[in-house]
Amino acid sequence: MSTVAHLINGEITLRSGRTAQVFNPSIGEPVRQVELADRATIQAAIDSAKAAFPAWRNTPPAKRAQVMFRFKVLLEENKDKIAAMISEEHGKTLEDAVGELQRGIENVEYACGAPELLKGEFNRNAGPNIDSWSDHQPLGVVAGITPFNFPAMVPLWMYPLAIVCGNCFILKPSERDPSSTLFIAQLLCEAGLPNGVLSVINGDKEAVDALIEAPEVKAISFVGSTPIAEYIYTEANRRGKRVQALGGAKNHAVVLPDADIDNTVNALMGAAYGSCGERCMAISVVVAVGDQVADTLVAKLTPKIRELKIGAGTSCGLDMGPLVTGAARDKVKGYVDAGVAQGATLVVDGRGLVVPGNEAGFFLGGSLFDHVTTEMSIYQEEIFGPVLCIVRVGSLEEAMKLINDHEYGNGTCIFTRDGEAARLFCDEIEVGMVGVNVPLPVPVAYHSFGGWKRSLFGDLHAYGPDGVRFYTKRKTITQRWPQRASHEAAQFAFPSNG
Ligand code: NAD
Repeated sequence: MSTVAHLINGEITLRSGRTAQVFNPSIGEPVRQVELADRATIQAAIDSAKAAFPAWRNTPPAKRAQVMFRFKVLLEENKDKIAAMISEEHGKTLEDAVGELQRGIENVEYACGAPELLKGEFNRNAGPNIDSWSDHQPLGVVAGITPFNFPAMVPLWMYPLAIVCGNCFILKPSERDPSSTLFIAQLLCEAGLPNGVLSVINGDKEAVDALIEAPEVKAISFVGSTPIAEYIYTEANRRGKRVQALGGAKNHAVVLPDADIDNTVNALMGAAYGSCGERCMAISVVVAVGDQVADTLVAKLTPKIRELKIGAGTSCGLDMGPLVTGAARDKVKGYVDAGVAQGATLVVDGRGLVVPGNEAGFFLGGSLFDHVTTEMSIYQEEIFGPVLCIVRVGSLEEAMKLINDHEYGNGTCIFTRDGEAARLFCDEIEVGMVGVNVPLPVPVAYHSFGGWKRSLFGDLHAYGPDGVRFYTKRKTITQRWPQRASHEAAQFAFPSNG
């Protein structure tokens, strides 16, 4: 069985000897293993990043951007190969894998604008003969820790931008599906990135803790579950690092009585069951305003959920693949059991699905619960599987209160034809990313991505303009060149333009 290694100083290398299995979830069997880095491996990556930083920091932003232009071309040329690697280890459908890669490439395109993004701000005559400007300078060695559910896209949210800003980056991807992430990083080296500017270290908690504790690492971007996000935020912050830690979610879709129901149903199907519900922006709760809306949704969703085309992610034309691991499948199944025990109405039961030819795969069918209430665990917790819960309320205000009271605030959306209601919703809802008749309002690369409340720890969102701010520190220079040799009297009052 082959072993997925690390990328350090431009070379693929195995070092620690400790490994974990990597599964193909569609067949339920390990297909390779991945090495788990020890502290010495992390230190080797840090040393190579430190050595590369002085030259990279002084490389003109336009030259750094040229590497990204070549990287984009290589990603597009290798699109099908990368999608197949993602599907094999994650289980998502090939079409969905291509989609995540495309959204990742959009972040590379944004990074190609480095000279424009890093232009800074200038004022002539801020005082008499005084000019003042602000520079956005790189931080040095920065790190990213990413989840299993977007092995291509989420790393691409981070390192293209960090690198064009002049930093050296150490990526610690998910150990569940590491192959596509490593391959993509190799393409960036092929595009001409100097050795040491990007390292990929596979590993688990040991590697993460080494990054948190290393004084050379100046900032950490994290995407994953809320308990780990909070841990990394707290521990890295305590050591003086800059941190953005994006966590879990429970995304509600509000459906008003005037919504275009057929389009809403189709939107909900994709948003709830796409990628088996393993998306941080997946819709997991529908808040139906009025019993009539709820009854109509149940009637229209039920046959569509029963007809979901489910199979090995690596085949074409499917709606859903398997869950990522046997443990993830069992956890989701446990939530369905709990929902039944706690009194919700299980309208469609996805437990017990068997895919012919792939009997050992980690599959579950789609499940639908009606009459879900706020004290149930299926309402309170992130299930991260193909389970949709319907909560019935009497008004938009009640729907909004429900969402605002939830501990998570990643994404939400409203389906309506009423502009006034939509505007009120956008103004008052305490969630970071909001859709109006858009079920997955994932911001485009030139905006920034992030939730509120316990869906994000830190101040700045991921990628886009906030990403540039996160990966740079501001330096403000105030400069005077006296016009002729003259002696000025000492001024003891605070200088001002008054
Ligand atoms: P996870 O938190 O288990 O793992 C994320 C990363 O943290 C991995 O690299 C993993 O190796 C590392 N890690 C795991 N346990 C650790 C520990 N004890 N100490 C230090 N590091 C540890 O998350 P996951 O299961 O890979 O991904 C799914 C989660 O990610 C879901 O909760 C989902 O909502 C969330 N997610 C959030 C966003 C977002 O933008 N907010 C995007 C994608 C996924």
